[in-house]
Amino acid sequence: RIKNDGKGSAAFFNSSMEREALARMKIEQSLRLAILEKRFCCAFQSKVDIRTQAVKGIEALVRLRDDEGVIQAPGSFIDLASELGLIDELTHLVLAEIVKSIDPINDTFGADATISINVAAKQAGNPEFMRSFAQALQDTGFPQRFMIEVTEDAFVAKNHFQAEILPMFRKLGVGISIDDFGIGYSSLSALADITADEIKIDRSFITDIHKRPRSQGILRAIESLSEALGMTVIAEGLESFEELAYLQAATKIRYAQGYYFARPIFLEELKLATPASSESRGSVSARPMQQN
Ligand code: C2E
Ligand code: MG
Ligand code: MG
Ligand code: MG
Repeated sequence: RIKNDGKGSAAFFNSSMEREALARMKIEQSLRLAILEKRFCCAFQSKVDIRTQAVKGIEALVRLRDDEGVIQAPGSFIDLASELGLIDELTHLVLAEIVKSIDPINDTFGADATISINVAAKQAGNPEFMRSFAQALQDTGFPQRFMIEVTEDAFVAKNHFQAEILPMFRKLGVGISIDDFGIGYSSLSALADITADEIKIDRSFITDIHKRPRSQGILRAIESLSEALGMTVIAEGLESFEELAYLQAATKIRYAQGYYFARPIFLEELKLATPASSESRGSVSARPMQQN
């Protein structure tokens, strides 16, 4: 109730606004500090061949350690980091972290595994950032190992992303992946105009796919279009044996990424072989495991 019809409610409204503003300032401050102090880390989750269980690639998923040492998932800070203009720096830091960890990454997932980095749609439409990021990828000396994951909105946005920015990455051998496909604003037919190597079907279509005829229809449509366009399809968020069984029996989809095969894991914890944290219980190999 925003209507200010009495002293009591106005006071309540003001103090709750104040509290909200204060809480936001606190989050902003701790985010700036976390990035300044490089208090972040990457968890890696594998993309698995559902027939052979070989690791095709991995995705770097950033986490922040807050002031109290608690690890925060990106859902709580990515949008804010983007608003505050901190996301570009964060993305460069993620790349630097990967380069620093390349030996354990190769030991754990194989030296052929592609390495995916998420790029927010807003970043993708910013030529200045994308140029500096392409340069940083080239500077690693192994740009062809990398893929960038960008949501579909970036591909249909009216900017230079498709025409100028993407070719620059392709020239370096960096793979292009469409993330969370199906929940953005692009139509299926927009896919025909998109140049990408990989398409990741959003988790919302994969959850309980075996029980949902409408999702099955959508999946079939995405699958046949992707096949025609030469894009690799990845099912995101695969959590259960039933979902896997459906993909195997009713589709030609070959790759999946989800808790069923592997949770995101921290490399340091593997090296130290400490008791598993909530995120590292996932098996390193692609062996199916119980969800926890
Ligand atoms: P995304 O790129 O779509 O990444 C997949 C998300 O789904 C990850 O969440 C992952 O932990 C989660 N996930 C994987 N398998 C399953 C499953 O079987 N079930 C369920 N329920 N979830 C699963 P996370 O790590 O919290 O990341 C959320 C989003 O934050 C990412 O979605 C991505 O859009 C963004 N993000 C992560 N790291 C970065 C980064 O370095 N830069 C940018 N710009 N965005 C990032
Ligand atoms: Mg992603
Ligand atoms: Mg995704
Ligand atoms: Mg997502």
